[in-house]
Amino acid sequence: MKGLIRAQVSAAAIQANLQRIRAQAPGRRVLAVIKANAYGHGLLPVARCLAGADALAVARLEEALLLRAAGITAPVVLLEGVFTNEEMAEAVAGRLDFVVHDEEQLRLLEQAPGGAPDSTVWMKIDTGMNRLGFAEQVADAALQRLEAASNRIAGIRLMTHFACADDRASRMTREQLQRFDRLVASRSYERSLANSAAVLSEPDSLGDWVRPGIALYGVSPFAGELGRDLGLQPAMRLTSTVITVRDVPAGETVGYAGAWRSARDSRIAIVAAGYGDGLPWSLPSGATVIIGGRPLPLAGRVSMDMIAVDVTGTLVATGDEVVLWGPEQPVELQARAAGTIPYELLCAVSQRVPLRVS
Ligand SMILES: *Cc1c(COP(=O)(O)O)cnc(C)c1O
Repeated sequence: MKGLIRAQVSAAAIQANLQRIRAQAPGRRVLAVIKANAYGHGLLPVARCLAGADALAVARLEEALLLRAAGITAPVVLLEGVFTNEEMAEAVAGRLDFVVHDEEQLRLLEQAPGGAPDSTVWMKIDTGMNRLGFAEQVADAALQRLEAASNRIAGIRLMTHFACADDRASRMTREQLQRFDRLVASRSYERSLANSAAVLSEPDSLGDWVRPGIALYGVSPFAGELGRDLGLQPAMRLTSTVITVRDVPAGETVGYAGAWRSARDSRIAIVAAGYGDGLPWSLPSGATVIIGGRPLPLAGRVSMDMIAVDVTGTLVATGDEVVLWGPEQPVELQARAAGTIPYELLCAVSQRVPLRVS
């Protein structure tokens, strides 16, 4: 693959992670979440390597239409639904399934000329997230309206979303689970509650459909845990290249703001990776990358196109490969060092980084 920096994505890892999720949720169906360019792993190639999932989910209509244009015929769910009559018409024409999460979306469906005969509608009920979904008090009335339109659609499913499933100590997940069970007790539609964290930690939440995202990419949804501790395989390996090595005498500074000062005569490798590629500016001096199998510390600030690495005492040379994250350098640890979550780092891998899924 060409390019100084590149993201190599393992299809085998993604498929193994799907199997890991299936083992955790036996007999349940899997709605594989591939929003945000498959968490930065490449929408179309990841969709193709997830042919073993039961359905695919994205957040935006544009992503769903890209899947259809690429000839992907699997069920595709719009997790936030549609927002205008035009979008509804495109969703219907694309045979997309979609969430209905508020009154306005219910109206768009009721008013759609010819209905949405090939679309399964996922009615979203809010059980405490307070983001999307019908509130407890109006959920039943909304569901009755949807049932009144049931001859205009292919089917109904019920869903909710957890706010704190990534916190094993939180009681919120069980509370949301009980609220959801109570609200839908009188109905027999298929149900979906669990994101990756709930699949891996709350067996009572599995329902009929699980909705894993981050776990498919081999990354832990839980702070302080790594994908590999959960039996997952990190799918992305983000690497770049040393573009020069220089000597920096003791006492001199490196990079913008002189944010790092050499305590001794040092050798500094300059690596072609910066925030223009999606490496966060907040990644501090001391955070490590791997060169020649060794973790070596950043020296100074992340620039747009470069980082500096303290390689004093090593044989690191121009042209050497640098692992920014991957199986040997967990993205969870880079995220923690940068004060963010691995989701953000993966989604931020920028367009100029060549991506290969194989
Ligand atoms: C993004 C998303 C998921 C997947 O969440 P992960 O934490 O990545 O597993 C599941 N359900 C909904 C509604 C989502 O928006």
